[in-house]
Amino acid sequence: MEQGRIIKALSGFYYVENEQGIFQCRGRGNFRKRKITPLVGDLVDFEAENRTDGYVLGVHERKNELVRPPISNVDQAVLVFSTEEPSFSPLLLDKFLVHVEANLIKPVICLSKIDLLEDKQEEEMQSYEDVYREIGYEIINTSIFVQETIEALRPYLIDKVSVFAGQSGVGKSSLLNALRPELELETKEISKSLGRGKHTTRHVELIPLDEGGYVADTPGFSSLDFHGVEAEELSLCFPEMKERIHGCKFRGCTHVNEPKCAVKEAVENGEIASSRYAHYLQFLEEIKSQKRRY
Ligand code: GDP
Ligand code: ZN
Repeated sequence: MEQGRIIKALSGFYYVENEQGIFQCRGRGNFRKRKITPLVGDLVDFEAENRTDGYVLGVHERKNELVRPPISNVDQAVLVFSTEEPSFSPLLLDKFLVHVEANLIKPVICLSKIDLLEDKQEEEMQSYEDVYREIGYEIINTSIFVQETIEALRPYLIDKVSVFAGQSGVGKSSLLNALRPELELETKEISKSLGRGKHTTRHVELIPLDEGGYVADTPGFSSLDFHGVEAEELSLCFPEMKERIHGCKFRGCTHVNEPKCAVKEAVENGEIASSRYAHYLQFLEEIKSQKRRY
């Protein structure tokens, strides 16, 4: 029996990759009785019939599972935010961060299109960067026109399963293409052979990187409503709040109106950025009003 990772699922076949290559596998085994559908990203046990074909026998327990795109065991989300076109939105960044944290995925913030940044805006971007670095988030700056910035992104992807996420137009596909120039060709070929345009949904695929690790060829977190995130959990998705919660007087403190709240104190003395706290309050309201609607 061998182990590998499903990197593609298509027409009833699972494409399982390990050091020996890629095996085209059919499903067989008890996971079907347990109603488990193997997902791209799954670590599986499989039986190789020869060097190219085999059978999936079992699916290992998943660390997490995304819905869009359907993919499991995601380690990391590269949150791509352009500095310009579209311009940087700290509110949207915080929303993505909450979703990523709620799924126990490590975020890496990628500020893209830095070539478009004018001198006068640089200071403003720098102060945003400081806020997120202070929390402990990793931030990198990229431009597809500056090769060193692409090379600086590469080490973050080694030995991890990464999904790129961010608004449309921020440069996710451009970055993926810059990381793997042959990818662009492949996606075009696939679209052509399936007779589909670039923007129709198609299967998700993990692309193995030469350095080790995988990136999903389809961006993730396309839907950003707060389903699945409870009001009580929200502050756990803000690391700088999470580390202070034990200091709140009341158990289950929501850090809104409660007295002796360690989070509010940290906001008042500037240890927590007021923009982050304002977004926390806004998301809390969104979650509550969603609850009322369902
Ligand atoms: P996606 O929707 O996030 O996948 O974004 P795309 O990769 O399709 O890029 C959207 C547009 O931004 C395209 O016209 C790209 O050429 C452009 N773009 C992407 N990266 C950069 C960059 O680093 N600098 C500049 N100036 N433009 C970029
Ligand atoms: Zn509190």
